[in-house]
Amino acid sequence: MKPGLARKKLLNRSGGRCEVCGLRPAREAQHRKNRSQGGTWDLSNLLHVCGHGNRDGCHGLIHQNPETAYANGWSVRQPRNPAEMPAWLTTEHGRIYVWLHDDGTASPVALPELVYGALKAERIYERGAV
Ligand SMILES: [Zn+2]
Repeated sequence: MKPGLARKKLLNRSGGRCEVCGLRPAREAQHRKNRSQGGTWDLSNLLHVCGHGNRDGCHGLIHQNPETAYANGWSVRQPRNPAEMPAWLTTEHGRIYVWLHDDGTASPVALPELVYGALKAERIYERGAV
């Protein structure tokens, strides 16, 4: 997907609010898998976040705390597929793990044993619970 269209659809999904903290206006697109590692502009690979680059807000937090970002699915390790890695996001249902789809929608991760924040994104991924 081209960056311009991706940004438009991302804004549509987020409603202009940061998908990580849910508090501040989202201004930037976070590539869950870095572009340098083959990350695309597909909606499953993008988060709409507050802050600027590597410096501040949630975008800065993600880049300054890579292990936290991987654990929460805000970043995705190569060679994993972002569409198969849940992300811990602020949604209309509260703060939950969601699957991000390339059509611009998101759906809650539904695992019976999923306890608030206890099961991290990579563990869910390893279970193959897509
Ligand atoms: Zn934020």
